[in-house]
Amino acid sequence: MDEDPPWQPEPFKIKMIEKINLRPRERRKELIEKSGYNVFMLNSEDVFIDLLTDSGTSAMSDTQWAGMIETSQAYAGSPSYYSLEKAMKDIFGFKHFVPVHQGRAAENILFSTIVKEGSYVPNNMHFDTTEANVLRNKGNPVNLVVDEAYDTAKIAPFKGNMDVGKLEKFIREKTPAKIPLIMVTITNNSAGGQPVSMKNIRETSAVAKKYGVPFFIDACRFAENCYFIKQREEGYKNRSLKEIANEVFSYADGCTFSGKKEALTNIGGMLCTNDGELFRELKNLTITIEGFTTYGGLACRELEAMARGLYEVIDEEYQAYRHRQIEHFAALLRQGGVPIVEPPGGHAVFVDAKKFLSHIPAEQFPAQALTAQLYVESGVRAVEIGSSCFGKTDEKTGEFVPARMELMRLAIPRRTYTDNHLRYVAESLIRLYKKRQQIKGLRRVYASKLLPHFTAKFEQIG
Ligand SMILES: *Cc1c(COP(=O)(O)O)cnc(C)c1O
Repeated sequence: MDEDPPWQPEPFKIKMIEKINLRPRERRKELIEKSGYNVFMLNSEDVFIDLLTDSGTSAMSDTQWAGMIETSQAYAGSPSYYSLEKAMKDIFGFKHFVPVHQGRAAENILFSTIVKEGSYVPNNMHFDTTEANVLRNKGNPVNLVVDEAYDTAKIAPFKGNMDVGKLEKFIREKTPAKIPLIMVTITNNSAGGQPVSMKNIRETSAVAKKYGVPFFIDACRFAENCYFIKQREEGYKNRSLKEIANEVFSYADGCTFSGKKEALTNIGGMLCTNDGELFRELKNLTITIEGFTTYGGLACRELEAMARGLYEVIDEEYQAYRHRQIEHFAALLRQGGVPIVEPPGGHAVFVDAKKFLSHIPAEQFPAQALTAQLYVESGVRAVEIGSSCFGKTDEKTGEFVPARMELMRLAIPRRTYTDNHLRYVAESLIRLYKKRQQIKGLRRVYASKLLPHFTAKFEQIG
């Protein structure tokens, strides 16, 4: 009689809306062809439901908007810089930080300061911009994630983990002097938004300490990762998300962070460290390329929105809703037979395009072909995380080496779409799955050297 309801819906209601457009099917066909079968080239007004990314697409709260108006704009020492510093210290606990305009700016500043030519940067798995920023500084990005990350059907609680054995072997082989830092990405975006356990973070940190190598966290989705720890790891059930975050960051010497994800803002980022000497260098470079250290390439109102968003993202009701929404969406796809990465990650559901389009070889970009066709089918925009993104051309032989996984990511913007929007996406994808044999492969006719997927052009084969 006196039990709570078994589940809770969105812990907010809608205060403002934005109209979205479903173009006619024939028009969608024209638009995708004109885009070179690359959804990055579409005008977002031609997209009905936009699951391209969860980055910079969050709906902000009334509290965040109010803060943006209330704050004061100043070049140096604005009140919002201090609000952000307070939130960073309270939740992340690092000694020093600079705001930056987004995550990759933090990567650029950090890596161009410490990554030297011929050095190696181990990570559980690099995100695309992280990898590109290591390469730009002539370092070698190395992915040392646990093997089960590549088995898309395997159910395991922490498929984002670093393989600590592989890491230690790697450090011995290359010598610590050649390794400027070790990174762990939480959650592991490139492997499907899979979480990393507290135990794994602790062990990775211990190996880094043993060899005297700095340990940094790519903290883009730290709170989603903390919620997974709370749900899945023994000993954390009764800890608050803030306490869990405090422990996660206590193992690191610093972090890079994109506010576009988990500060629930449309722009922003942070670079944090405990190393005072390193920070002096980072600070000077920030001033040169981003802006003075109390605004870092942002308007002060954006600092305020980040400061408030950081507390909203560690709100347990919010995280419970977020995870439930994604779990529900994944269940619809699963029931419809669509092959997805299991278990679903914290910010997206990934479709295994190798299985979905088993008749299309990797050289014909199955995940890209699926992404383009989903747009034609439904006006939904997803994104390819496969050979267009991570395929390599062997410099010696000129041969194309496909990526290890062919995934299509359906990223879920935060607080933006309802379960009904996602039901539409699931039903569209299930319809497409039933006629998958009709989907054709693609030929890539243009690709840039770094980050090719953003601007690549394709033609349909046959
Ligand atoms: C988005 C992202 C970045 C880069 O952040 P931006 O704000 O887009 O520059 C870095 N690492 C991971 C894991 C990300 O998801």
